[in-house]
Amino acid sequence: KVRTRYAPSPTGHLHIGGARTALFSYLLAKKHRGDFIVRIEDTDTERNVEGAAEKQLSMLKWLGIEWDESVDTGGPYGPYRSMDRADIYRKYADQLLSKGLAYYSYSTPEELEKEREEQLARGEAPKYSGWDRDLTAEQRERLEAEGRVPSIRFRVPEGRTLVFEDAIRGRVKFETDGIGDFIIMRPDGRPTYNFAVAIDDALMKITHVIRGEEHLSNTPRQLLIYEVFGFEVPTFAHVPLILNAEGKKMSKRDETIIQFIDQYKELGYLPEAIINFIALLGWAPEGEEEIFSMEELCNIFSLERVSKAPAVFDTGKLNWMNGHYIKKAPLERIAGLAFPYLEQAGRISLPMSPEQEEWTTRVIGLYQEQLESISQIVELTDLFFQSDITYSDEAKKVLAGDQVPVVLQAFLNQLDGAESLSPDQIKTMLKNVQKETGYKGKQLFMPVRAAVTGVVHGPDLRETISLLGADKVIKRIQALVD
Ligand code: GLU
Repeated sequence: KVRTRYAPSPTGHLHIGGARTALFSYLLAKKHRGDFIVRIEDTDTERNVEGAAEKQLSMLKWLGIEWDESVDTGGPYGPYRSMDRADIYRKYADQLLSKGLAYYSYSTPEELEKEREEQLARGEAPKYSGWDRDLTAEQRERLEAEGRVPSIRFRVPEGRTLVFEDAIRGRVKFETDGIGDFIIMRPDGRPTYNFAVAIDDALMKITHVIRGEEHLSNTPRQLLIYEVFGFEVPTFAHVPLILNAEGKKMSKRDETIIQFIDQYKELGYLPEAIINFIALLGWAPEGEEEIFSMEELCNIFSLERVSKAPAVFDTGKLNWMNGHYIKKAPLERIAGLAFPYLEQAGRISLPMSPEQEEWTTRVIGLYQEQLESISQIVELTDLFFQSDITYSDEAKKVLAGDQVPVVLQAFLNQLDGAESLSPDQIKTMLKNVQKETGYKGKQLFMPVRAAVTGVVHGPDLRETISLLGADKVIKRIQALVD
């Protein structure tokens, strides 16, 4: 049975790259009717952020990435939080110690730093010297009497070539001579990432380890751990880097790209648009189609079609996709998502009366076609909420036309005394203006639109005027004809 996992460290918000790793893992599991596990790797305790794990999980859920096993649901291979598994790691470390495959190591951070600097100065790649590999009991006692608290190091075998077939990158080789003995347990009893991850993936029966390319160089260390315990080695798949529009590796500090899923949610991106977009960051299906639902992705995803070339993050494409999903969604859903933005901007207050809700929904509906993110609704609908509007240069030009005073006055006359302003009635009024003045088409509609909205382009004019209501429309036109 295929079992995949996403193993975030709870050090911050769910990053777009992390979301992609989670998605690929999820899709592969679901494609094969397997299990998707979310494991919280919180062994780097200094970097842990309170509440970050829960937030990341809630963002995954919002995206529609659901897990079969994790910290909240439990499962047969728990616990799913590394720090709750401390005695498991200890047990495995003890096994290695007793077989002489790991050893207590006494270098202080200062000594390690010094060793590193000296190696670099000699033009060597830094690698742990292993001076304390074979200490006698007395030597150890003496070091401990100095107050040194040992870590546990893995004894890396010499002269070996480690080979594995990465599902994305193909055959990858590492020489063990390039790898120094590495720490598996810190002096305070916490495991290191490379030790914990290998044990957890093995014990949790993970079949495919999908993660960012930055972990490629960790894989040989993990392979060594698999080997000493006789664990079955999973398939590794290292997904390519994400580059920004300038072709630079995207970092968490990159200001050209919005980095975190929470931010996209706040800006009014739809989860299905984000999923569709990140699915295509490094993966491409056969054919030209680019729009895929989660369900479709679950059916067609494969690691074979993940590229090893870096993926470029194209914000324009994301916005286009989001617009696509906004257009497709029922208006009620878009309105429901838009209300909080309007409230925040002080345009409405929630809850609304049924009439106001209907009106606001119709106003939002005018712009559904053109939204690329929900937050844009505030600016676009400004003219419905403000009594004063500003006129764009184009609108001013239109309003300077010779026929404008006549057209606007005639329309004003029509409005005067009108009982209601339904789109149909406005249609009739505009027809009457045409008959009366002889102006039609652009000559008629452009000035009316410019006068009441301040701009020359926009959604359906009749619906716009109808929703603006007589008060605003009359006031705006009057201000221009006086
Ligand atoms: N906790 C690691 C990270 O956040 C996971 C790496 C892995 O998937 O093995 O990068």
